Amino acid sequence: MKGERTGQLERVALVSTPWPLYNRPSIQLGALKAYLKAQFPELKVQALHVYLKVAECIGYKLYRAISERTWLAESVYAALLFSERTKEIEKVFYREARGKPHLRKIDFKTLTSHVRDVSDSFINSVDWGHCRLAAFSICLCQLTSSLYFIKRIKQKFPDLAIVIGGSMFAGDSTRNLFQVFPEIDFVVNGEGELPLSQLVRHLIDSQSREDIPPIPGVVTRNAARDSTPAPFCQVEALSSLPPPDYDDYFHMLKTFSPQKTFFPTVPAEISRGCWWRRQQSAGKYSGCAFCNLNLQWDGYRSKSPIQVVSEIDHLTTKHKTLSVAFMDNLFPVKASREIFEQLGRLNKDFRFFGEMRASTPRRVLEAMQAAGMHEVQIGIEALSTRLLKKLNKGTTAIQNLEIMKHCEDLGIANVSNLILHFPGSDHHDVEETLQNLEFALPFRPLRFVHFWLGLGSPVWQDSRAFGLRAVFNHPNYAALFPPDISRSMRFMIQAYRGDLGHQRKLWQPVKKKVRAWKKAYAEIHKGSSRSPILSFRDGRDFLIIRQKRFKAEPLTHRLVGTSRTIYLFCQKHRSLKMILAHFPGVAEDRITPFLRMMVDKKLMFEENGKYLSLAVPVRP
Ligand code: SF4
Repeated sequence: MKGERTGQLERVALVSTPWPLYNRPSIQLGALKAYLKAQFPELKVQALHVYLKVAECIGYKLYRAISERTWLAESVYAALLFSERTKEIEKVFYREARGKPHLRKIDFKTLTSHVRDVSDSFINSVDWGHCRLAAFSICLCQLTSSLYFIKRIKQKFPDLAIVIGGSMFAGDSTRNLFQVFPEIDFVVNGEGELPLSQLVRHLIDSQSREDIPPIPGVVTRNAARDSTPAPFCQVEALSSLPPPDYDDYFHMLKTFSPQKTFFPTVPAEISRGCWWRRQQSAGKYSGCAFCNLNLQWDGYRSKSPIQVVSEIDHLTTKHKTLSVAFMDNLFPVKASREIFEQLGRLNKDFRFFGEMRASTPRRVLEAMQAAGMHEVQIGIEALSTRLLKKLNKGTTAIQNLEIMKHCEDLGIANVSNLILHFPGSDHHDVEETLQNLEFALPFRPLRFVHFWLGLGSPVWQDSRAFGLRAVFNHPNYAALFPPDISRSMRFMIQAYRGDLGHQRKLWQPVKKKVRAWKKAYAEIHKGSSRSPILSFRDGRDFLIIRQKRFKAEPLTHRLVGTSRTIYLFCQKHRSLKMILAHFPGVAEDRITPFLRMMVDKKLMFEENGKYLSLAVPVRP
């Protein structure tokens, strides 16, 4: 029986379906709910964290294992959407599940049937009949799950207006969407607050989704035929935004049994967009060549320190949690230090996570660490300056090693990536990486990730310049979706014909070395001593450096007098010119052999006449 929409219709459902991290409320839902509540105080806004419910029902370990890989995540609901394709979809799932301990004994059919039961019972528990609008936030890993919920809900409530938005749908990806998924009525292109609130206002006023006039930032069925993309409509200043509202997530968590509850991490945002991309806009292309993270924003905006600090204080006090994940692509250059100094003054034992660029100065990192920065993801991406240039990263290998060293010193876990297989990388890049890896061994190992082609990224836009002969949807979409859909849509994950076979061979030695690095680092840190692999103790006019080694006795080195002061001066990277100017009484022909010796012993790193000392001070 079709559901009926009755009574008061002033209700909006915001929906986030599997597979985001289950232990955090959705910042998209939280921000939109808070904004809509401020605009329409009478409106009932429900933020439905479907993914949390699904995680609770199928078990957190299993949920996490699935959510960590895009194709695992997308295959589960694809099988529910297109049961006639189960065989092809199952293959994708089992291929991706290989090597995942939590998925070893999982039967795909049993899993999908369990997920269907949980999802359908969730749908039945919501009063869609009283909803004016259901808005789906769709980010990576949420495509098929959102489509499943939209289809099921629309079957029961055909009059309910459905709007989608989020990073999965921007620019080219909305092409043909309305034809292949007729259940969708509107798409928000870009940031959600303004377009969604205008859409709600019109729906309240007009009572019908057919009479909606053009709204900036909202794509309708008719407008989608237009070849020019819908312009963004975003708030001018983030100061106009209220703090995110996570109440619904925490209410749901309270309904779980004590064995199923946990202390969530609260997401927060200081900024939206990417200043590196904006700063680069006059160039050939803007931002990092592989990145498509900023398709939904125009420019870079950040909140004031006072706003950030009061929001974080408010959210952590209200929800009695101390773990906060910053969702920013990168922090603001000028305000970061002040923000973290002020957060430190709150005297709360925070546990922060954040993403940042490798150019972040040491004093800012120190303020972060003092405030509770526990884990960071830095835009390292490569240890070859040659390759970093191709990536348009705007950083160098010496900067990357410097920030890796600072993290080691400050006890901040650095969980950053090394991108392999980037199109056009060559044996010089690999050679440089291998050489520089020798100097990175004292620091926490990087994770290697394979380059993937993101829709809208500079490589995708200018594919020929990167040697790609053809770009198309990733072949897994053809397994997950019927041909009429996979052929007519542009999906976020793209594939290409180019030099991939060559790249795979080229990067083998780096993979081997990174694996060995990981093993050695773990082995050396085994047991009670967590002291750094390469450290020094200062004796005021001499310095003792201790160099721990894998399966060998540690080495010690003593630097006396000027050698000591030069080593300390290069705690941040310095050019030879700077070193000579700082030590005018010491001749160049005495300084350069010393620096060369330090580099030979892997106690310093050198790049283009710049020097960086690698040992970190021993902390008491
Ligand atoms: S990777 Fe980071 S710094 Fe680079 S363009 Fe993307 S968001 Fe900006």
